[in-house]
Amino acid sequence: MKILVTGGAGYIGSHVVKALGEKGYKVLVVDNLSKGHKEAVLYGKLVVADLEDKNTLDVIFKEFRPDAVMHFAAFIEVAQSLREPLKYYKNNTVNTINLLEVMLKNGVNKFIFSSTAAVYGNPEKVPIPEIEPIKPINPYGQSKAFVEKVLQDFDKSYGLKYVSLRYFNAAGADPEGRIGESHDPETHLIPLILKTAKGEKESIKIFGTDYPTPDGTCIRDYIHVDDLAEAHILALEYLLNGGSSEVFNCGYGHGFSVREVIDTARKVTGIDFKVEETERRPGDPAILVADSSKLRKVLDWKPKFDDLEYIIRTAWNWERRRERGQE
Ligand code: UDP
Repeated sequence: MKILVTGGAGYIGSHVVKALGEKGYKVLVVDNLSKGHKEAVLYGKLVVADLEDKNTLDVIFKEFRPDAVMHFAAFIEVAQSLREPLKYYKNNTVNTINLLEVMLKNGVNKFIFSSTAAVYGNPEKVPIPEIEPIKPINPYGQSKAFVEKVLQDFDKSYGLKYVSLRYFNAAGADPEGRIGESHDPETHLIPLILKTAKGEKESIKIFGTDYPTPDGTCIRDYIHVDDLAEAHILALEYLLNGGSSEVFNCGYGHGFSVREVIDTARKVTGIDFKVEETERRPGDPAILVADSSKLRKVLDWKPKFDDLEYIIRTAWNWERRRERGQE
């Protein structure tokens, strides 16, 4: 089976490409390398191309003739999406529609979409079930919510079969330390904490201590990137076996506050780094925790790394490897 993976040189995409390669799938990564790293592609071939360019995409589809498409390429920073919404609607929404258009034109109708818990905004029910209303509170979440709506309509009218995976907070790294999280600029909590532990940053800032949570800091459901990758493999197999379109939350079903993540990172690293309490970051909901019972039941997802200490240890291992220049 041949799988075309956009954004396969990025953080989550590269872990899914690894999982696909290990399972014997033939992989073609399409990535413009604006954020990704070519050395993160452990299996298959990489074509450097932009999803804006439909003509090139069409040529790629005609040559590779994929059985399914997994689409990771996107911008992912909530705060940036508030400053530059156009960037998000173009790259995340318009370019996804370009990709879908080229897919359908080439007779490819199986699609795995990287959606996000940000589509829920500030949910009323926690843990959040998939039936919770879609009410994003920032352009990032809205850019993905638009695509989910397009997917529904394309299923009805064109027979597109898709699985939309709503990611909670992907974290951790390949346990063997070959690939990991490497954004520039880095904005995510765990890598920033570890950079602080390494002395690359003076302190880690806690964005808001007045949230309606037990310790006042935001709560997130941190899911190990390899468990998330496994959810993609299951979703792909489900579609290849004729499954109908579905939406699944991807998280463990319990969360940790920013302070709890910091405490765990202190324990894992053994380093007492500096912490500063600052203002809230715009666009952040207080609590995002998945109800992932649907993923467990329908796709028989059995996570292996539901352990914050282990997650941070794999991320720490990756950070230190990079420090020694073995990236
Ligand atoms: N956060 C923080 N300090 C940082 C980075 C993030 O306090 O330097 C908080 C952020 O406000 C959010 C949580 O950590 O509540 C996770 O943020 P991240 O950017 O990692 O992921 P997001 O939830 O935005 O996808």
